[in-house]
Amino acid sequence: MRDADAAAGVEVSGITKRYGSVCVLDDVSIDFRPGSLTCLLGPSGSGKTTLLRIVAGFVAADRGTVRFGGMDVTDEPVWRRRVGMVFQSYALFPHMSVRENVQYGLHRRGVRGAVAEREVRRALDLVQLIGFDARRPKQLSGGQQQRVALARAIVTNPRVLLLDEPLSALDRRLRQGMQVELRRIQRESGLTTIFVTHDQEEALTLADEIVILDGGRIVQRGTPSDVYERPRNRFAAGFLGDANFFTGPVTSGGVSVGGRLLRTHGALPTDGTMVTLAVRPERLSLAQADGAANRIDATLCHIVYAGPTSMALLVDVQGNKIKMLIQNNDIILPDIGSSVVLLWSPADTVMLSD
Ligand code: ADP
Repeated sequence: MRDADAAAGVEVSGITKRYGSVCVLDDVSIDFRPGSLTCLLGPSGSGKTTLLRIVAGFVAADRGTVRFGGMDVTDEPVWRRRVGMVFQSYALFPHMSVRENVQYGLHRRGVRGAVAEREVRRALDLVQLIGFDARRPKQLSGGQQQRVALARAIVTNPRVLLLDEPLSALDRRLRQGMQVELRRIQRESGLTTIFVTHDQEEALTLADEIVILDGGRIVQRGTPSDVYERPRNRFAAGFLGDANFFTGPVTSGGVSVGGRLLRTHGALPTDGTMVTLAVRPERLSLAQADGAANRIDATLCHIVYAGPTSMALLVDVQGNKIKMLIQNNDIILPDIGSSVVLLWSPADTVMLSD
């Protein structure tokens, strides 16, 4: 087990990258704390993989610097940076056994004999594949193959671990199991890890920190609960789960929407300014809430059943669509077409910057 304090932090600053006339990354600066797992989250084409490849050294940025543990590696080739990488496709050598696949990187660095054997064993132990050493990749499940790919990335003691959608080829159940595994392996190895994904749930489950990218720019960064509970703008709110939006003018300490005054926990701009508030579907309720609550009149249009929960689809008097998450316990729901009053707390109401 490595000491997490010994892991190198990664710092990218002012990274800009163009392909022809398209600006793929626009002045991106992020510091990845030593030993932490950061998810780069964003839709397809937002620049996540390009940023990861710039950190690895496969792609050169037009501007900006990359530092590992405070040392400038911007002009260093891939092999000198000592990064471990895992991709969506496992890219294992099919004709080699698990052991040969894992020790390949060590042999290339001239590490052989007892030292190589010990390191391979350490890596296979970490990914819990001891006893599978002699198998070929095609004799393993998808999850096991991905663990071999991880062992291969970790065995050379990299300074940084870079993962590009490593779990997206796995089915949902296997992926959830591997998320837990991956988190354990990352903690035990203490490696500074950058994980690219477009899967919001995966980012919320895995990350110490999430960096949301859109169009080559950072939209927001923070802990999973930070970015989920306090999205900065409509994109962040909508990308990281469902959100309801209410737009109206600031009036007497609240926001006037559909004849009701909605309140938020934060400071509001001056009266008359149009603002948008966001609230998550699971924060709404039909029950009578204690204390000062935001309320809105709505009509129940449809209920989508999903096992433990249902999503109620409603529309308010202004025609805004609203989603409310319901736990399927013994709640008795009103009939479709009924008028209802939705309640939620001002503390769960976030004012967006746009
Ligand atoms: P993501 O990983 O978020 O899906 P990428 O970093 O792969 O995004 O790509 C960002 C943008 O850069 C996309 O529009 C993509 O088409 C473009 N791009 C990536 N690599 C190249 C390349 N080698 N040449 C030209 N355009 C590229």
